[in-house]
Amino acid sequence: MLKKWIRSFLDAILPEQCYLCSAFSSPPFCPECQTKLVPRLRKTADPSGRFNVWSFFAYNGPVKTLLTPFKFDSRQDIGDILAKKIPLESPSFTFGPIDYWIPVPLHPKKLKSRGFNQVNSLFRSYVKERNSVYIEGVHRVKNTPPLYDLTRDDREKTLSGAFKLDASLSLSGKRIALLDDIYTTGSTVREIAKLLWPENIASLDVITLAIV
Ligand SMILES: [Zn+2]
Repeated sequence: MLKKWIRSFLDAILPEQCYLCSAFSSPPFCPECQTKLVPRLRKTADPSGRFNVWSFFAYNGPVKTLLTPFKFDSRQDIGDILAKKIPLESPSFTFGPIDYWIPVPLHPKKLKSRGFNQVNSLFRSYVKERNSVYIEGVHRVKNTPPLYDLTRDDREKTLSGAFKLDASLSLSGKRIALLDDIYTTGSTVREIAKLLWPENIASLDVITLAIV
């Protein structure tokens, strides 16, 4: 709360600057930097060999710079702009059709401190515009520490049992897209996939804003 108050105070007295190049411009970034955000869909096979990962950006440059304030400084305006950069249709889109789009969830404690799930900010309107079904059907029941400095084995151990499917969900025969902001080693989505396979889903694709 104090941080937010200080930020609005500073916003009121300082000239507004672009997050990427520091040029004076209306936030979060200047028109020139907006043109640097060009999506290019790439397909990667998950090491499990059981699903593909589709990502719109490489996790570097402006996308990497912007995800930090978006997630950790609660800058939803940045998320709104990133969300608009996700193209609805493209000749290279070969995933789908999808029945249910499911976001990777945050633990309720983290959701409370951040105020929003960044995956919802990125993808909810995208899915709505496709007239498709967005379901927050996976819950995070273990509040895991940040995974970025853990080895793959340690990530898997930490995430074991971290998720639970919503009991009301009926997934048999459904084509599922699991949504996340960044695909790094895939440990998180593989842990959720372990819950999805026994439900006899028809197919699984993982779709992320960025890939490391
Ligand atoms: Zn700029």
